[in-house]
Amino acid sequence: MTAHAPHPTRDRKPAAPVILAVETSCDETAAAVVSGDGTVEASVLASQHDVHGKFGGVVPELAARRHIETVEAVVAEAIRKAGIARTDINAVAVTTGPGLAGALLVGVSFGKALAYALHIPLIGVNHLEGHVASAWIEQPDFPMPCIVLVVSGGHTHLYLAGADGSYHLLGHTLDDAAGEAFDKAAKMLGLSYPGGPAIDKLARSGDAHAVKFPRPYLKKGNLDFSFSGLKTSLLYHLRDLDRAGTARPVPDLAAGFQEAIVEVLVEKAFDAVRRHGVKALAVVGGVSANTRLRALLAERAAAAGLRLALPPMAYCTDNAAMIGAAGRRAFLEGRFAPWDLEAEADLAFPAAGAPRAARVRTRAAMRGR
Ligand code: ADP
Ligand code: MG
Repeated sequence: MTAHAPHPTRDRKPAAPVILAVETSCDETAAAVVSGDGTVEASVLASQHDVHGKFGGVVPELAARRHIETVEAVVAEAIRKAGIARTDINAVAVTTGPGLAGALLVGVSFGKALAYALHIPLIGVNHLEGHVASAWIEQPDFPMPCIVLVVSGGHTHLYLAGADGSYHLLGHTLDDAAGEAFDKAAKMLGLSYPGGPAIDKLARSGDAHAVKFPRPYLKKGNLDFSFSGLKTSLLYHLRDLDRAGTARPVPDLAAGFQEAIVEVLVEKAFDAVRRHGVKALAVVGGVSANTRLRALLAERAAAAGLRLALPPMAYCTDNAAMIGAAGRRAFLEGRFAPWDLEAEADLAFPAAGAPRAARVRTRAAMRGR
C-alpha cells in the first residue's frame, strides 16, 4: 500500500465538507480524503500489479476479488492518514464507471454501505470526470475554457471544457487507447506489465529516430485517434528482425514507438487548442505520467505561451484523490446519488443527456468558490 499525500498536521481540522473517496474501477484499490478547500488530506493505493503481472494484463475476475479483500483496509488507512474520525466524513464519493463491472461493483457496494451506516450522502463519480478533475488538484486557478486530453489505459479522449464548466467531447480513439498501445507494445518487446512505465524507462537509453514508426491519423484533419496500426507496424518490424536473425534493438524500438504516440497526442492536443482558440491545455490520465510526453508538452506550451496543467505523478494513474476532487465539486453543486446507485461499466462522460444545469457550475466549484 502506498500513500501519496503528506501527513497533515494534527492541529488543523480539515475544512468541511470532508469527502471520503473510493476508487475500484480497474486494478488499483484506492481511497482518499479530500477536504472542502480541495486539500488532499490522504491518498492511499493498493496496486494489484502482483496479481495481473504474470498474465500480462488485467484479469477482471481476479481484480474484483482482490478489491473485496483490500478495500476495507485501504479505506481505514486513508482515514487514519488524514487524522480524522469516521464521524468527520461528510460524504462518500465512489467511482461508478466506466471500468470493469465486477471491480466497480465492489467500490459502489462498499461506498453505499459506508455512507448509509454513517447517515451521510453518497456521490457517484464518473472515472473520467475524476481524471479531468486531477488537473485542478494542484492548480485550482487553472483557467477555463481549456482543452483537456484524457490519456489512460482505457481512454484517449479530447474535451473542450467550456467557460461555463460544461464538457464537450471533440475526438477519441477509434480503436486502442494510448495506454493500451503502450501495454501491448511492451508485451511484444518482452517487457513487464504495465507496459507504459517500462517503455518510458527503456526509451531513455534508445534512439527515437533509429526506427521509423508511422504517425497515425495525423493527416486526417480531425481530432480522432487510432493506435492499432502503430501496434501492427511494431509487430511486422519485430517479425522482419526475427526472420533475418537480427537482434532486436529494444531500447530504440521502445523510444521510436513512444515518440510516435507522444507526437500524435501532442499534435492533436495543440490542434484542438488552435481550433478552439483557447489558451490552456490539461493532459491527464495514466499516460500523462510519461516523461517524454511531459517534456514535449512543456516545451510546446512554453513556445506557444499556453498555460499547461499536468497532474503530479501520483495523480496521473488511477487514484482516489481525483475521485475525491470530483466528488467535492459534486457536493458543492448538490449532485448526490440515490441509494440504488449502480455500477455502469460503459458510463459516458459527459453523461449522455445529462441535464445542463447539473454541469454548468463546475468551473466555479473547481476554483473553490
Ligand atoms: P485506466 O484509467 O485506463 O484504468 P490509468 O489512468 O491508471 O488507466 O492509466 C494506466 C495506463 O497508463 C496504462 O496503460 C499504463 O501503461 C499507462 N502508463 C502509466 N505510466 C506511464 C508512462 N510513464 N508512460 C506511458 N504510459 C504510462
Ligand atoms: Mg484511469
